[in-house]
Amino acid sequence: MRIVVCIKYVPDTTEVKMDPESGTLIRDGVPHIINPFDENAIEAAVQIVEERGGEVIALCMGPAQAEQGLREAIAMGVNRAVLLCDRALAGGDTLATSYSLAQAINKIGDFDLIFCGKQAFDGDTGQVGPGLAEHLGIPQITYAIEIEEVTDTEVEVRRLLADGFEVVRAKLPCLITAVKHLNEPRMPGLKARMKAKKAEIEIWTRESISAQESRCGLDGSPTNVINIFTPTRQVEGEIIEGETTEQQVETLIDKLREAQVL
Ligand SMILES: Cc1cc2nc3c(=O)[nH]c(=O)nc-3n(C[C@H](O)[C@H](O)[C@H](O)COP(=O)(O)OP(=O)(O)OC[C@H]3O[C@@H](n4cnc5c(N)ncnc54)[C@H](O)[C@@H]3O)c2cc1C
Repeated sequence: MRIVVCIKYVPDTTEVKMDPESGTLIRDGVPHIINPFDENAIEAAVQIVEERGGEVIALCMGPAQAEQGLREAIAMGVNRAVLLCDRALAGGDTLATSYSLAQAINKIGDFDLIFCGKQAFDGDTGQVGPGLAEHLGIPQITYAIEIEEVTDTEVEVRRLLADGFEVVRAKLPCLITAVKHLNEPRMPGLKARMKAKKAEIEIWTRESISAQESRCGLDGSPTNVINIFTPTRQVEGEIIEGETTEQQVETLIDKLREAQVL
């Protein structure tokens, strides 16, 4: 079984700032982590390979410091790690990102499964997984909450829906996106971390994945994030006074009527 896991190295904060000049995120001096849902994706892939044999390959497109995230993935049980690192790829929107990752996976070669997180902490679009499946022309199962069965040719997954669950069976190769409750990502021990420290991380560039420059990075993106800001609260909150809950409810209803909300 050969499984690719796409991991994003994201700012460990919601207070992300944009560089108005380059139109990309300011990452220097900001602590980064593996995107939490991608830890669930790694755990799912490692569990399948522990059961069925094979290898897990972690793939990350990001700046040089993302190497640290890949070492954490190796400590969690990933066998091979590839960092797609090239200025030409920076600032890509979800179309450019998923295209670049697809090119890298074509270079990796045959695979049975791809795992992604349901969405990234920073961009938060949830578009890269489905986009990647589209570029590769393979089926996708999103919001996986349980991997029910994996055979040599098929996978059966329970998906989380807004109002329940759905069980889907698909032919391999297939792409799956992971939600938080899919599993409990393992905490690597000291030995595993020491091994990961010495592990080789392959560094690939736009050229080494034969990606067309016009389809990569900021220039290859039909959409650009022009600004990010934390919305300021317009109206201050108000504490509703009253000795009893009934009195408070009465007062609230009066205020809502005054505000013509009711
Ligand atoms: C605040 C903010 C808003 C943005 N809004 C948009 C937008 O509306 N439209 C748009 O096109 N772009 C947007 N971007 C740019 C977007 O972040 C990048 O395109 C990014 O590379 C992928 O999108 P995402 O972060 O939403 O990832 P998602 O699609 O949410 O990520 C889903 C999964 O895909 C995989 N993945 C995502 N990025 C990588 C990577 N670099 N390497 C490996 N695996 C990866 C991971 O498994 C991840 O869990 C935004 C960026 C920021 C910071």
